[in-house]
Amino acid sequence: MNVEEIAVDGWRKVVRFKDAGTGLDAIIAVHDATLGPGCGGCRVRPYATVEAALDDVKRLSRGMTFKNALGGIPFGGGKAVIIADPKTQKTPEMMRAFGHAVESLGGLYYTAEDSGVTEHDMEIVHGVTRYVAGIREKDVGGNPSPFTARGVWRGIEAAAKARLARDSLKDVSVAILGVGAVGMALCQLLHDAGAKLVVADINEASVKEAVQRFGASAVSPEDCIGADVDIFSPCALGGSINKDSIERLKAKIVAGAANNQLLTPDMDAALHARGVLYAPDYVINAAGVISVGLEILGTWTEAELTRRIDAIGPRLASIFERSAQTGRPTGAIADEMALEVIANGKKAA
Ligand code: NAD
Repeated sequence: MNVEEIAVDGWRKVVRFKDAGTGLDAIIAVHDATLGPGCGGCRVRPYATVEAALDDVKRLSRGMTFKNALGGIPFGGGKAVIIADPKTQKTPEMMRAFGHAVESLGGLYYTAEDSGVTEHDMEIVHGVTRYVAGIREKDVGGNPSPFTARGVWRGIEAAAKARLARDSLKDVSVAILGVGAVGMALCQLLHDAGAKLVVADINEASVKEAVQRFGASAVSPEDCIGADVDIFSPCALGGSINKDSIERLKAKIVAGAANNQLLTPDMDAALHARGVLYAPDYVINAAGVISVGLEILGTWTEAELTRRIDAIGPRLASIFERSAQTGRPTGAIADEMALEVIANGKKAA
């Protein structure tokens, strides 16, 4: 295996691994390891160039530093990318070679599933390295979606209190874009809390199910962001808040599960300027990484995970409070608070 360390300013370690025998061409990036080993998934994608792969792994590993820090778990930010088409080029041999690459970093990086990678792939990786999270063991871990939904529900409660002065979600209206694994579980929690639901999805069967089970009103995905509701909850793909859609937004709160809800970073300030309270996506949807963190630490129990997920509510409340005090957008405040957690970790080390 050819191993080449790439010097990247601001990153703890970035290494490219090339293995001619298996076709592996991977980059592992550890952005920050102050709080603990870099932890984040591995993505398999047919990047057009090595530069594109490097840009992606840098962006993603940096994002994990912030997500893990505010998730309250002792891990830094890390990520891996494999340059290959997951459908046609990925092989068990390639994944095994990737496992050796992870192992060679001696625990500086823990890997997990991301797009283009299956649970089976990670079992192969686990065959050669123990630095893998998300391997299903008896009564530990498992499907993160219900946990993610719980975190989003707790976040919505905190946002409703801060922006709408509501102590309960009774009769609060929520439009959910995307009623998949997380969105449907979120509907159940919100319905149980007495919220009124509006749902949209490209999958008609899911919409029908939400209408039948929760008495939700159905709208088209295009109309969902403009629904006349208190809260807009993006639970489909990223980028739903952009310079066009923001003009149609009527809700006073944006709080959902999707990753990268803001298409461009300036949307953070734009939402703030319109008086919309935004629950930063990486804070409200952190239940999955919290679960993975507890798995690695060997302290995973459902009770412990639930306790930590419920802390997402108070964590968001403190972000909202600082935003109100300083007049600065919530996304910027979340980043600042994550950096404070890391700085405190440096002092304690
Ligand atoms: P999912 O695939 O189960 O559900 C997504 C739903 O969105 C599907 O029902 C799909 O039909 C719908 N959808 C896709 N494109 C759409 C569009 N253009 N308009 C309307 N609906 C559309 O995925 P999920 O696991 O529920 O995750 C939802 C989001 O939350 C994703 O962005 C994911 O990255 C993020 N997330 C999920 C978890 C988790 O634990 N599953 C954790 C963190 C973040």
